Amino acid sequence: MNIRLADNLQVDSIVDGEGIRTVLWTQGCKHNCAGCHNPGAHSFDGGFSADIDDIKRELLHLEGQDGITLSGGDPFFQVEACLEVAEFCRNHSINVWCYTGFTFEELFKMSKSNSQILELLNCINVLVDGKFVERQRDWSLLFRGSKNQRVLDVKESLRQRKAVQVDKYKEKPLYKYGMEQLDVTDFGKVQYMFI
Ligand code: SF4
Repeated sequence: MNIRLADNLQVDSIVDGEGIRTVLWTQGCKHNCAGCHNPGAHSFDGGFSADIDDIKRELLHLEGQDGITLSGGDPFFQVEACLEVAEFCRNHSINVWCYTGFTFEELFKMSKSNSQILELLNCINVLVDGKFVERQRDWSLLFRGSKNQRVLDVKESLRQRKAVQVDKYKEKPLYKYGMEQLDVTDFGKVQYMFI
């Protein structure tokens, strides 16, 4: 099976989930969030087609990675292909994070008519859900861009049939200097000091 990608596998990301992660940039998204971080990944004709068997081979040879992150685009617009990748990861004990513009509640409802959505959720450890909302943007949040988005424990969310956030990511991280007091015009220049 093939999958449409916006880019090659990106290794060593420290911003797309916990630890050092490999990111699969899927192509295609209909959410049209204003201020989207990756507008080039919206078109369903953009990017390129990749053989999932090649991706699996690459994943098996990665070193020093704590897991894979499905991002994009929105992986749930290619649910069948992403399910194949995520199932492979689960079978090889590779931790999976996934970013989606859908909320957990929307996905759960959609899964009633498309069982692959539920199967894909079952292969994901952590889901960062919801559209990026520019007016709720907050650079001090870990692994999410706007306050409405949630970092969800998928196994527990499915068990309880409601969105269950990962406790340690619910609140803002503790900084030595409050981000609110800083003029954050260039994210890369800010030195985080965890206490
Ligand atoms: S869901 Fe993500 S990729 Fe899609 S428009 Fe929103 S921010 Fe961009």
